[in-house]
Amino acid sequence: MTTTTPNPTRSIITASDVYFAAPRETRQLARLLQMREQLARYSTERESHGLDDSDLAFAAMISVEDEIADVAPVVHAALFPLWVNHAMGVAHAPGVFNPRCGICMATVDRPTASRDNDTEPLTGPAAE
Ligand SMILES: [Zn+2]
Repeated sequence: MTTTTPNPTRSIITASDVYFAAPRETRQLARLLQMREQLARYSTERESHGLDDSDLAFAAMISVEDEIADVAPVVHAALFPLWVNHAMGVAHAPGVFNPRCGICMATVDRPTASRDNDTEPLTGPAAE
């Protein structure tokens, strides 16, 4: 009779969780996945606003994906289709406000701060 012994280096993948038996590999992969998610958001936001450096952010994301493929090829193969189809709700057409976009939210705050500054005297507080 054959029994299956769990392989401690084999990853177990679910949609929201990745597990390695080795803590160091788990931490490294977790950092790479977090970095990839941040770069995906960052490049999508910059692309939505037509910023020139969006391609640099996208290239950085691809580099991190390549690193994930080197470190954990099974994880990469499982997650890649999800990444392609996961828009994070951040993307938007130019000129359209999206509250999930960090740049949109930052530009909403800027006019408020500017308006507040406009009520201040240009030369500073009046001397008493
Ligand atoms: Zn935006």
